[in-house]
Amino acid sequence: MNFKKIVKSDLLLGLIQPTLLLWLIPFSVYSFNIGEVPISEFLVLILGLFFINAFLFLIFKSIYNDFLKGSFATSVFYLMVYFYFEFYNNIYGIHKWSYLKFFRARYFSLIWLLIFIIVFILFKKIKRVNKKIFNLITIFLGIFIFFTCIRGLFTYFRVQNKIHHYNIYNDKFRNKYEDQLKKLKQISSFDKPDIYYIILDAHASEYILKKYYDYDILGFKKKLLTKGFYFTSDSMSNYSHTYLSIPSSLNMKYDSVISENNDLSFCSASHTIKNSNSRYFLNLLGYKFINIPSVWGPAKFGKRESGASYPIPSDFSYSVFYSILNKTIFGMFLNMYYDSQKQQSILGQLNTLKKVVKQDSPKFVFTHFFCPHRPYIFDKNGSFLYFRGNDRFAYVNQLEFIDNEIAKVLDIILKESKQPPIIIVQADHGPHGDKHSFSIDVESDDQKDLTFGILSAFHLPGVEKKDLPNDISPVNNFRFVFNKYFGTDFEILENEQNEYE
Ligand SMILES: [Zn+2]
Repeated sequence: MNFKKIVKSDLLLGLIQPTLLLWLIPFSVYSFNIGEVPISEFLVLILGLFFINAFLFLIFKSIYNDFLKGSFATSVFYLMVYFYFEFYNNIYGIHKWSYLKFFRARYFSLIWLLIFIIVFILFKKIKRVNKKIFNLITIFLGIFIFFTCIRGLFTYFRVQNKIHHYNIYNDKFRNKYEDQLKKLKQISSFDKPDIYYIILDAHASEYILKKYYDYDILGFKKKLLTKGFYFTSDSMSNYSHTYLSIPSSLNMKYDSVISENNDLSFCSASHTIKNSNSRYFLNLLGYKFINIPSVWGPAKFGKRESGASYPIPSDFSYSVFYSILNKTIFGMFLNMYYDSQKQQSILGQLNTLKKVVKQDSPKFVFTHFFCPHRPYIFDKNGSFLYFRGNDRFAYVNQLEFIDNEIAKVLDIILKESKQPPIIIVQADHGPHGDKHSFSIDVESDDQKDLTFGILSAFHLPGVEKKDLPNDISPVNNFRFVFNKYFGTDFEILENEQNEYE
């Protein structure tokens, strides 16, 4: 068989069409996320879907004993699965999946199955598939995929451009502190305590928890106070969202470049977290930077350096499968699978944090826990939950779990460090960073509290409590630490609260 024959063979033509149909969603999702998803992850998914499709195609082909009919049937099968609950929702006006719905939908399922059977019998009756129409549909799908590729390239170059501008802007900042960097270099090695920066995503302050959740964190607070921590009760986050807040605190500044082009901020967060100013400055001092991977996209790197051995769920594959399966019964199982991956990751992160203390000093350890942020997957004792929703009680339970675990981790870090370490335990924003995540009726005054009121605790050996501003905000964390420990004179910035919607 020569090349021309292979290209024109019905087997290949029949295989291509449903493949393209199945690829539409991954290509489309990837074209928006090209800056943050590794190409390898995309290719594995594309290849996986290719083989799933080939398998289904061969089944349908053998039913009809015709390549093109088998191909059409496979495509129709995808459309029926994909649109099942789309139609169901339109008819019944129910928009959220529940266990109950599956049973309520049984008549609908029967109707759907009937349509399915009729379509497939009709296929059987057709003598031959019109090859011209068949090819036209394939070409149409091909063009669609081609355009998503073009869009992907545009996204890629926009992200690169943004990073380029960020780097220029950042170099200016680093140059400005060059003299102080020279000073930093001269510090002797025993004056370099390990630094831990632990972020608990959406962990509210003591005041907010008491006022809006009727929950007291006194137990957790007491544990930390006896370990020598200071709590800054008036601390507020500088941003309402993680992808702006973490880059800002690690880079020690408010960043107009990061917050411009909001749609690209998620992509640039990854770059600015990996190449932060705090890391750069500490590297000059001889610190090793260790990131313990989070389940949150831009902070997923650093598996090897941290010695992490837990699974890190892929947001990209999840969102692709979710787009395809969301409206089917498989969507529910997908959610459960993804939640269990998150549970394993968070537990793995805690374990890694306990082990990382043994690595050589001086080190700068950063880790972001996607917790107590929803989804609510732990109860207060650490049992796994598969609850999806917005509930104050669930939030507080998960918060109690992570607090207990963090207290244990801090015990180990403090016991096993050769020299008392600097530790910051802080939230990136309040519990209400996402207005849709909580069902509390709040006045607009309260909204600010809930968006920005964060847990903020510092372990600062040799520094007195009175020297630490009670309203210190994340942007000033490292400015304060550098000034206190390394004799720099970074300006302490105004504590701003910026909200980006
Ligand atoms: Zn967050």
